[in-house]
Amino acid sequence: MTNTTRRCAAAHPDDPTPCVGPHDAVLVLDRNNHGANGCEHHGARLLASLVGGRVVSGSVDGAAIRVHKAAGATEPSQRSHAENRHPAIDMNDPLVLTALQAVRRHFATTRAALSEPDPGQAEAALAASSREAHDALAAAGLSDLPNGILLRLVATRLGYQP
Ligand SMILES: [Zn+2]
Repeated sequence: MTNTTRRCAAAHPDDPTPCVGPHDAVLVLDRNNHGANGCEHHGARLLASLVGGRVVSGSVDGAAIRVHKAAGATEPSQRSHAENRHPAIDMNDPLVLTALQAVRRHFATTRAALSEPDPGQAEAALAASSREAHDALAAAGLSDLPNGILLRLVATRLGYQP
């Protein structure tokens, strides 16, 4: 069952190894928040090659933590970069969940503001939900995640339909 022609997006062309598990088990982000979905095997290899990269669980719960550990363990030459690497974003972390819920509320408030007849009230509601989301993201260490990634996390983890 070695299929190297259709592999996850995290697989490096020079690395002939096959995928292990779902191809969207994790999302690996570089320091500029460019992301690639990957299986746990190639996600770990990709993460190990990145300075300032990080990993988020995708379709497999707990995958980010395993990939983060594997990346640190399998590439001794990259260990010096470990301190530059963001920790894995743990979806079981209450702070992360709280942050995603706050972001979802902000999205909902934004949508509601579009049909709010009183501009002053819409503005106040948006300012409040924006501040709440900002604070919750900061508490979870996710302040620098771009909106596209946040929307994706909220949609996949909380079932938000924009
Ligand atoms: Zn793979």
